[in-house]
Amino acid sequence: MNDQTIILTGDRPTGPLHLGHFVGSLRQRVALQHDYQQFVLIADLQGLTDNGSNPQKIRDNIPEVLADYLAAGIDPSLTTICLQSALPALAELTALYMNIVTVARVERNPTVKNEIAQKGFARSLPVGFLVYPISQAADITAFKASRVPVGDDQLPMIEQTNEIVHKMNSLFPEPVLRHCKAMLSDTGRLPGIDGNAKMSKSLGNTLLLSASEETIHRAVSAMYTDEKHLKVTDPGQITGNMVFTYLDAFHTDKAKVAEMKAHYQRGGLGDRACKNELETCLQELIAPMRERRATYIQDKGMLMALLKQGSERAHDVTQRTLQEVKRGLGVPVF
Ligand code: ATP
Ligand code: MG
Repeated sequence: MNDQTIILTGDRPTGPLHLGHFVGSLRQRVALQHDYQQFVLIADLQGLTDNGSNPQKIRDNIPEVLADYLAAGIDPSLTTICLQSALPALAELTALYMNIVTVARVERNPTVKNEIAQKGFARSLPVGFLVYPISQAADITAFKASRVPVGDDQLPMIEQTNEIVHKMNSLFPEPVLRHCKAMLSDTGRLPGIDGNAKMSKSLGNTLLLSASEETIHRAVSAMYTDEKHLKVTDPGQITGNMVFTYLDAFHTDKAKVAEMKAHYQRGGLGDRACKNELETCLQELIAPMRERRATYIQDKGMLMALLKQGSERAHDVTQRTLQEVKRGLGVPVF
């Protein structure tokens, strides 16, 4: 990475952010903002692709996501936070890219395929949902982003974006768009508190950044461990044991976790003790975010003003790319 590195990521405002966002992307964004130019996009148009009949849900969640960003440590003086629907260049680029991507290609995207099955769309699949990876390619390329810190569910989107970059650039007299790379965190994908492979707003298996002390306690108590580990003295399994998956993702003392794992495997370490360790660590992580968030969310006017400011900055950047793409294609630019 160098001075030319531009970072873009985003979130759909479909609900408040959770620990999956935190380990998959938020934590990296907070670290990266000091050294690189970074944009964070609240993807409200993408949120509408599977909530077309419920625009209020998307609207209401914009300030919620923004409050989560600030609570997690994204600093608007270092990171440009902007709103997708305030940037018409993104929609225009999407329209241009749609002509060079085949229906077969969008249908092959494994993340989209999986989400379509999960949401049970069948024949009621919205066109916009099927093509959202193309709009995501527009988002990434409009900012000329070269790095995208995301969870591993997003790898197929990055691959598809690079295909679009390659194809579009081949149509221009000289390349305009930039290839991008995913930046995966150590925890590629955080499972849900129910043990499902992915913590996700849509699956209702989340622990929010604003979770109460009681909610955290209940979630950890109910967490799946090793069903064969009945007595404290029994040797226990680490693989598939949610408590250890979470300790790996969140505990700051890696040596301590390694020691606990060894102890658990040879027997003599109880589930209760492991859960207590995890609960303490999650309570300490979430409490300050929950408190900061509670203050920010009270001032929605301030949050929206901040988003307007960031969107104005992003507007210029994205318009510039759109004009370059149009010129490259020989579309008149007035
Ligand atoms: P929805 O269910 O509405 O799609 P979501 O919970 O999947 O919501 P997104 O807004 O789609 O969240 O994801 C935003 C970002 O957070 C993406 O980069 C994604 O990879 C990351 N992310 C979301 N959930 C997880 C998770 N469980 N583990 C790691 N990263 C995640
Ligand atoms: Mg998602």
